[in-house]
Amino acid sequence: MNIEEFIRDVPDFPKPGIVFKDITPLLGNIEALRQSVRLLADPYRDSGVEIVTGVESRGFIFGALLADELGAAFAPIRKPNKLPAETISESYELEYGTDTIEIHADAISPGQKVLMVDDLIATGGTIEAACKLVARLGGDIVAAVFVVELCFLPGRAKLDALGVETHSLIQVAGE
Ligand code: AMP
Repeated sequence: MNIEEFIRDVPDFPKPGIVFKDITPLLGNIEALRQSVRLLADPYRDSGVEIVTGVESRGFIFGALLADELGAAFAPIRKPNKLPAETISESYELEYGTDTIEIHADAISPGQKVLMVDDLIATGGTIEAACKLVARLGGDIVAAVFVVELCFLPGRAKLDALGVETHSLIQVAGE
């Protein structure tokens, strides 16, 4: 089964010039979804992962399934003012303006092994901010994993600079 067949290109969404990589066909096929979760987990089965973190909202879907696959817990990273208890936050640059994400201050204990996940890495801004949150809590980041990597953008380079390993299932070479 080739999971790439379950990623649908939607041109000009959410704005002209962007090719949106729609993962809903993958979610709609249980065998393709299970295979993608197995492949995301495979390199890290013996890594002692204790917590998987995902950024809302598509990171929650893969994050929860991946946590179950690895026998780990799940810690959500959310947009501002969504998490109810004490949080820490990180802001990052967008094309126009900035965005902020938050994690509960008690979500990760120092030294815990953490696997980061999102559906897709583009510029890497989101996952870089997520890694900074985990690092501030003392988490030991094992790697960051993605279903889709847009290789024409500097996402992997950003994670390399943080010393974080990148693992992706589908590499998109050009726009
Ligand atoms: P970035 O911070 O630039 O790496 O963007 C990653 C986040 O934006 C991920 O949570 C993706 O779900 C979303 N995203 C960015 N570009 C795309 C795209 N072309 N297709 C689908 N999702 C995207």
